[in-house]
Amino acid sequence: MTDAPASPLKLFNSLTRQLEEFRPVHPGTLGDPADPPEARVYSCGPTVYNYPHIGNMRAYVFADTLGRTLSFKGYKLTHVINITDVGHLTDDADAGEDKMEKMAAEKAQSIWDIARHYTEAYWADVKALNIRQPAHWSIATDYVPQMIEFAKAIAEKHCYELDGGLYFDTSTVADYGALARAKTEDGEGRIEEVEGKRHAADFAIWRKTPAGETRQMEWDSPWGRGAPGWHLECSVMSEALLGFPFDIHTGGIDHREIHHPNEIAQNQAHSCSDASGARIWMHNNFLIERSGKMSKSAGEFLRLQLLIDKGYHPLAYRLMCLQAHYRSELEFSWEGLGAALTRLKRMVAIVEKLPEVSADRIADAETGADFSWIDNALSADLNTAAMLPLFELAIQTKQAPPEEKLVVIAKVDAVLGLDLLNLTRTDLRIRPKSAAITEAEIEAMLTRRKEARAAKDFATSDKLRDELIAAGVEVMDGDPLGWDWRLDAN
Ligand code: AMP
Ligand code: ZN
Repeated sequence: MTDAPASPLKLFNSLTRQLEEFRPVHPGTLGDPADPPEARVYSCGPTVYNYPHIGNMRAYVFADTLGRTLSFKGYKLTHVINITDVGHLTDDADAGEDKMEKMAAEKAQSIWDIARHYTEAYWADVKALNIRQPAHWSIATDYVPQMIEFAKAIAEKHCYELDGGLYFDTSTVADYGALARAKTEDGEGRIEEVEGKRHAADFAIWRKTPAGETRQMEWDSPWGRGAPGWHLECSVMSEALLGFPFDIHTGGIDHREIHHPNEIAQNQAHSCSDASGARIWMHNNFLIERSGKMSKSAGEFLRLQLLIDKGYHPLAYRLMCLQAHYRSELEFSWEGLGAALTRLKRMVAIVEKLPEVSADRIADAETGADFSWIDNALSADLNTAAMLPLFELAIQTKQAPPEEKLVVIAKVDAVLGLDLLNLTRTDLRIRPKSAAITEAEIEAMLTRRKEARAAKDFATSDKLRDELIAAGVEVMDGDPLGWDWRLDAN
C-alpha cells in the first residue's frame, strides 16, 4: 500500500462481543522483513468420522479469509488447524458415544482407517476450495502424552475423579462460561448425563474405558486406561504450536457455547491466571438449509462433491461464502449457488479478455496503485461482501488500462482466493454427473442449428433446440457472457 496509511485491522471478538483492533502478541516491525509482526491463529478442525458438509467448509473458508487478510496486511502468519480423531462425543456437552468409535463400529472398520479416509476427503475439499495449507495440521492422537501431562498439572486443583474418569470442576475458575454468556451454571442444553458430576457444565478431561470393554483407541493414564476428553486437545495443541497466549482462535458459532468455554477454563487452570489463551476469539455463523440446521444424516447430505456432481464449480461455493459476512447466517439454496456461479463466470470472462501485458508495465502500475479501498473493506472485520462490488467496478471500467486491472485482480484475489488469473470459462463449465450428452455432440448439434438458422430453416432450428433441451442442455442465444450453452445442473 503506497500513499494511504493502512487502516487498523478491526476484528469482532466474541469474548467482548465488540470490534477490537488487532494487536499481535509478537508485534515486530511492520514493513521490516527481518522482524515482521506475527499473527498466530488456531482453528478448530473437523472430527474425521464422516465427510464434512459444506457448512463445515464455511468455517475453513472463513479461517482462510482471515489468514489471507493477515498476510495482505503484512503479518507473518502461522496457522494451525487440528484434526480431531479422538474424543469428540455425539453430544458436545459430554454425552453419548465417541463419534469415531461409533462410526468404526457401524462400518466394522479400524478407527485409524476411518480417520485416514475422512481426513483425506476433508483435505480434498480444502484443496478444491483453494483454502491455503496451514503451517501445521495437528492430529489429536499425536498429542496424547502432552494431554496427559496437561491433565496432571490441573488435576489436583481443578478436577475430581468419578467412575467414568477425570472431570473438570467448572466452579474452580473465574467466570466460567463468560464466552457463551451463559447465565447460570446449568444453562440450557446441559443435561446431566454423568452421575456424580458436581455441576452440569463440568466436563471430562479423561474418559476411562468402562470395565469389561475395550476401545480401539485407548491409552494408559493416572486415571486408568482410556481416552482424552475432546476439549483438552485444543488447549494442548494450540499452546504447543503457537505459545501461550497466541493471537486468534477460530471456530463455528456452536463452539462459542461449550467447546471454547471449556478450552478457556482449562487454559485458566493450566496458566493459573484469568488468561483465556487467545487474545481474540472469532466465530463464523452457520450455513443453514431452508428446512433448518445442516446435517450429515437427515435429508440431502450437502457435500462439496455433490455440488460438483451437479455441475457447479467448487469456487462458486467459495464465492457464495464471501458474498455474505462471516458473522451472518447464510442460507444455502441451489438458486443462490447458481447466482454465485454466474457472478464468478462474469469475473472470469472479464479477466480472460484482458490482453497480455509485460511484467515491466505491471510493476510500474503496481508502484502507483492505491489499494486503500481493499484495505478498508478487509480491515472492517473482513468485509469481503462490501469489497466484491468495488472490485467488479474496478475491473469493468473501460478507461482503466489493462495493467492496472491486472494489478488489482492479483491483489484482490490473493485475499478472495478465487483463482481468477488461472480459471477459464471452460473450467467453470463442469459436466453434471447425470449429463447424458457429450460436449462434442452438443457442439455438433449447435453447428447444425446455426446452419439451419442461416438458411432461415426455423423448423429445423427449433427442433434441434428442443432435442438439446430434452438432453438437459440450455441453449443461451445472445448470452451476454458468450457462454452459448450450459448443462442444466439440476
Ligand atoms: P465438526 O467436524 O463438527 O467439529 O465441525 C467442524 C467445524 O464446522 C467447526 O468449526 C464447527 O463449528 C463448524 N460448523 C459445523 N456446522 C456448521 C454449519 N452449518 N455452518 C458453518 N460452520 C459449521
Ligand atoms: Zn477445538
